[in-house]
Amino acid sequence: MNIPPGSTIGILGGGQLGRMMAMAAARLGYKCHILDPHESPCAAEVSAYFTRAAFDDVEALKRFADRCDVVTYEFENIPVAPLEALGAKLAPSTRSLEVAQDRANEKRFIEGCGVRVAPWREIDGEADIIAALEALGAPILLKSRRYGYDGKGQAWVHRAEDAGEAWRAIGEQPAVAEARIAFSAEFSVILARGQGGETSAFPLTRNHHEGGILRISTVPAGPGIEAFEQEAVAAAKAIAEALDHVGVLTVEYFACADGPIVNEIAPRVHNSGHWTIEGAHTSQFEQHLRAILGLPLGDPSLVAGGATMENLIGPDVERWANIVAEPGARLHLYGKGEARPGRKMGHVTRRI
Ligand code: AMP
Repeated sequence: MNIPPGSTIGILGGGQLGRMMAMAAARLGYKCHILDPHESPCAAEVSAYFTRAAFDDVEALKRFADRCDVVTYEFENIPVAPLEALGAKLAPSTRSLEVAQDRANEKRFIEGCGVRVAPWREIDGEADIIAALEALGAPILLKSRRYGYDGKGQAWVHRAEDAGEAWRAIGEQPAVAEARIAFSAEFSVILARGQGGETSAFPLTRNHHEGGILRISTVPAGPGIEAFEQEAVAAAKAIAEALDHVGVLTVEYFACADGPIVNEIAPRVHNSGHWTIEGAHTSQFEQHLRAILGLPLGDPSLVAGGATMENLIGPDVERWANIVAEPGARLHLYGKGEARPGRKMGHVTRRI
């Protein structure tokens, strides 16, 4: 199936990923229709159509599907059952969402693909935390199974005495506990898989986090990470194939002395791929669209020596006037209102 320019692409979610996807779609002559529960999501500003509705409003989803030629999503915390209303128009399918939105399912699935994750345990209460400390060795990192992002819903536990406090800190909800991984760096593979099963990966991206939030991404990732390229891309491909994923899939890794370990996956375009807008021959947003539209995948190679992407988080955005005056710096602002601490307001890409 090949969906031609002029068609309408539905996007569930109206954040910055949807915004940049809509901008890539417009360049290729497509129109976007955003569905989001908020009043004026930043993706709606640059899209042809906007429906304000809850993600589980089945009637609204049906009407939305009628008006779109294909529907995709820009974040994974969407209830899966109501998406039946979208029928076969949804890409990637609900399978990818189901796996990625629950950390325990995700880890089991990845292990089932023969790919390594951090040693882990399922957690349903304080007693499980104490048992996990024993089994995995201290410290362990508690992560809520659902609705975690940017390090939210996470707590380190160093001693059995802290189990109760950690359980309360994550909201007493089903979780996983992970052993602490001694990694030298973090990196991601951004892989696209087309309707015919063809795949294409961008060069590995080195990611530096601060306070659980991505701060800087760098490409090329450097020799310590590039040595893992074959293994990491093959693992991402195996996961995408097992999901029968169509679209971009991001796999985040820890680089360890004995090889790469998967931290988590995202069934979508990703913050660590923003550098591709200027730094690669095809951006991750265009690549995702090509995959779901049934077009040939684009060239993912670097246009220059490399690039760095710096996130503008919260008050960082106040530096915009300096950045816009900086030769070679490419400023992206997402048009969001208040610069709350931890909120991703924009990013800047620089060539290296
Ligand atoms: P996540 O939300 O799972 O991506 O975790 C946020 C950040 O916490 C990661 O990017 C790592 O820097 C750190 N982190 C997550 N899991 C572990 C782990 N098992 N061991 C050490 N650090 C971790």
